[in-house]
Amino acid sequence: MSLLPVKQSNSSRIYQVVIIGGGPAGLTAGLYCARSRFNSLLIEQGIIGGKITNAERVENYPAFPRGISGIELGQLIFEQATSYGLETLLAEVSTVVPGHRHNLVSTGEGDFVAESIIIASGSQFRKLDVPGEDKFVGKGVSYCATCDAPLFKGKTVAVIGGGDSAVTEALYLGNFASSVKLIHRRSQLRASKIFQERATAEPKIEFIWDTMVTQIEGDGVVKQLRLKNIRNDKISILQLAGVFVAIGSEPNSAQWRGLLPLDEEGYIITNELMETKIPGVFAAGDVRHNSARQAITAAGDGATAAISAVRFLSF
Ligand code: NAP
Repeated sequence: MSLLPVKQSNSSRIYQVVIIGGGPAGLTAGLYCARSRFNSLLIEQGIIGGKITNAERVENYPAFPRGISGIELGQLIFEQATSYGLETLLAEVSTVVPGHRHNLVSTGEGDFVAESIIIASGSQFRKLDVPGEDKFVGKGVSYCATCDAPLFKGKTVAVIGGGDSAVTEALYLGNFASSVKLIHRRSQLRASKIFQERATAEPKIEFIWDTMVTQIEGDGVVKQLRLKNIRNDKISILQLAGVFVAIGSEPNSAQWRGLLPLDEEGYIITNELMETKIPGVFAAGDVRHNSARQAITAAGDGATAAISAVRFLSF
């Protein structure tokens, strides 16, 4: 996977809008702010495009009738936003100290004063939290089939989860692995029907229902999973080379705890204008409570947040 070059910001340290996060929500917010001629900085700590870059093919983003890779989609929005003057910085935001029209955003690359902030920091992969998971990350445990599937050519792998991520990962892995075991803790998937139909029709995918992974075992690399059937408590061993964890996400909102109201899972609470409790601080995309967690809804949130920020700064 290629890492997009991120232009360094200029010497100015005061911005009308600072956007935290470079996924579809943040990039779209940046596009709208830059087109409104607001002095805007987008700070991204990883890859431009955010989690969408893990998607081998995005088929439900309007205007791409044949689908588009997640990386390309991120690149296109990035190009569009920066062509209107959005500045970008590759850095991790360490702290934010809110203050009316004088929010202090600290990063590894220095401090910035933001008259308004749009939080679009997204979410990160949820972990299984079983013995062996951390030990074997990069040695058979993965959270990204698009990144790692070619390493498992001709081998047996498992995907854990029952949502769209698990099923799309399993389908993609079917292009490489000899056998894909989709292990889900229920007896039915929650993934979209179209993905369920494709997975059922894929002969390499075998479903293992009502089952939890209790341990990931190996020597230097993953060799087997210890499984438990939750209906009859039966323990079994599944030998394989790789395990892809696709059990949803957790919000990147830790630095807002104590500053903003969060829901019980840590997502930031906003109103329909993407306003948080702090005037001039907005949240958009996957980090927001009740987000539909789609690239297109994140982009819509980003546009709404930007329009709200522009109104906040204009009146
Ligand atoms: P999700 O929809 O929240 O599904 C997570 C799955 O993991 C659920 O089946 C859940 O089981 C299971 N799970 C959660 N915690 C678990 C644990 N500790 N152990 C075992 N299983 C666990 O998450 P997602 O699949 O990542 O999807 C997130 C959002 O992204 C969704 O809105 C989805 O539509 C979207 N998405 C879209 C596409 C696309 O191409 N359109 C692709 C990927 C994702 P239960 O069912 O029992 O809760």
